[in-house]
Amino acid sequence: GAGLYIVPTPIGNLEDMTYRAVRILQESDIVAAEDTRQTMKLFRHFSIESKLVSYHEHNKQTSGERLLADLEAGKQIALVSDAGMPGISDPGSDLIRQAIAADIPVIVLPGANAALTALVASGLSTERFLYYGFLPRKKKERREALEQLKYETGTLVFYEAPHRLKEMLQGIEEVLGDRQVTLARELTKRYEEYIRGSVSELRAWAAEDVRGEFVVLVEGSNEERPDAVIQDSDPLEQIRRYIE
Ligand code: SAM
Repeated sequence: GAGLYIVPTPIGNLEDMTYRAVRILQESDIVAAEDTRQTMKLFRHFSIESKLVSYHEHNKQTSGERLLADLEAGKQIALVSDAGMPGISDPGSDLIRQAIAADIPVIVLPGANAALTALVASGLSTERFLYYGFLPRKKKERREALEQLKYETGTLVFYEAPHRLKEMLQGIEEVLGDRQVTLARELTKRYEEYIRGSVSELRAWAAEDVRGEFVVLVEGSNEERPDAVIQDSDPLEQIRRYIE
């Protein structure tokens, strides 16, 4: 039917494509892809012949306007990214917001996603977690971002490029302390691997040349936020505690 379909694609293993994802891509009038060449490979594998257009960070304005016009004209459009769930550290959220604002149905298919897969396998708490995606690249900004996360009690979930892993772990140890960490490497692929340990242990592991795709999961804080008392709602109680 008409509407914007958000279609996850495999993060390494083509068997993780769902039957429904294949059908929706086949049925769609237009498939908007982050990288059409990448998506062509998927199309060939699953014998999909739908019309492909590009939708990425640098053309999302113009491409998005065209897609919205087609959606308003009653077309079925599917959105895919290079791998995993669109809108999760990938293009998609702008188009989704625009479609919602225009009262166009948005249908999201469940499917492959590196963060959730890694979280469940990490052995760290899955009860609460904070998905962060990529930390800033610059050292100072990365430090500031980590400072903000210092008292977060949920498991922290990051994406990181292999050549920045070493520096990232150093920042984590300096700002968050020597917590438990899981590195989830090459999920769903031939060399899938989990490396679990304290940050200092994993820094030693990452000292050599590391390759592949990584999710970095960090145990949440078990320290109390130092200003917790002042967040109390009763002003008198606040003052009483303050002068004690
Ligand atoms: N939208 C994707 C998702 O739903 O997971 C994420 C896209 S983001 C641009 C790419 C990052 O996701 C990589 O740098 C890596 O941190 C993580 N990632 C993607 N595939 C992975 C895999 N097979 N194993 C480990 N991490 C992966």
